[in-house]
Amino acid sequence: MHEMSVADGILKIAVDVMKKNHCRSIKAIGLKVGEMSGVELEALNLAFDVITRGTPAEGAALRIKRIPITAQCNRCQKIFRVEHYNFFCPECDGVLILKSGRELQVEYVDVD
Ligand SMILES: [Zn+2]
Repeated sequence: MHEMSVADGILKIAVDVMKKNHCRSIKAIGLKVGEMSGVELEALNLAFDVITRGTPAEGAALRIKRIPITAQCNRCQKIFRVEHYNFFCPECDGVLILKSGRELQVEYVDVD
């Protein structure tokens, strides 16, 4: 399961932050997940619960911010929210270049 390795990566980053701050537990982790990142939130939450058991992040809240898919037209330069993976400009038929939606990053870690 892809989400298991994602959860593992998140845990490692959180533990690093915790150690750098000389803390002993992780309260919450803020995460940016793009709609095109290929991560299923339900599976990720489940994987996070499993992987954090017995670690300083056990019981930590995983606060996920969904990042919509947006793209900019290479012809008229307008920026659109991409629906149904349609990467053609609705106004001029130009090609839309992806601007956001593939994010998968830890935004913050609350430690104690
Ligand atoms: Zn256009």
